[in-house]
Amino acid sequence: SNFKEYNLSEDITRALELLKYKTPTEVQKKVIPKALDNKDLVVKSQTGSGKTASFGIPICEKIEWEEKKPQVLVLTPTRELAVQVREDITNIGRFKRIKAMSVYGKEPFSKQKEELKQKTHVVVGTPGRVIDHIERETLHLDQIKYLVIDEADEMLNMGFIEKVEAIIKELPVNRVTMVFSATLPKDVEKLCYKYMNDPVNIEI
Ligand code: AMP
Repeated sequence: SNFKEYNLSEDITRALELLKYKTPTEVQKKVIPKALDNKDLVVKSQTGSGKTASFGIPICEKIEWEEKKPQVLVLTPTRELAVQVREDITNIGRFKRIKAMSVYGKEPFSKQKEELKQKTHVVVGTPGRVIDHIERETLHLDQIKYLVIDEADEMLNMGFIEKVEAIIKELPVNRVTMVFSATLPKDVEKLCYKYMNDPVNIEI
């Protein structure tokens, strides 16, 4: 099996060739078709499994380039992961000229505010700084169609779950939600149950 069966656009296919992604990983085989079908997903998977591309590929495929406001919000527990996800999405979306940016604490708010004024398809951020941008009206969420919560169990460990919930409440109800987590603690399951639409459970 390779990526051809997903009928991805030429822009995305070329990017995967450049990245030398020849065969989808196990998590990609399970996630990509469902995500392309706009299903809500709860995915139990480890770092190193190719999970970032499992949501990055379908999301890059679905993004409407013309839209100026953010269409995708990815929440991560750490700055390092935010930067990594932003890089991976930029690479997958390179030929489609997808603009992804990261927002996190300890970087000047004003710099991020200026960047958010430009066309941005994907915002990847840590919960605290995302809330700052929402409160100061520098991040507009009315066009968000995809929410990804990455390393949800780490969000819980770091005490971010209330912040994540506060952000979810600000998002359009008509969206696709994907949750990735190495383990599924009760509080993560509860959050999924509360805010997701009949999610498909995927275990690797
Ligand atoms: P992740 O689990 O998202 O951190 O990905 C782990 C590593 O696998 C990253 O360095 C990716 O660039 C790489 N990777 C992801 N998908 C593929 C693939 N289909 N083929 C080869 N490498 C991949």
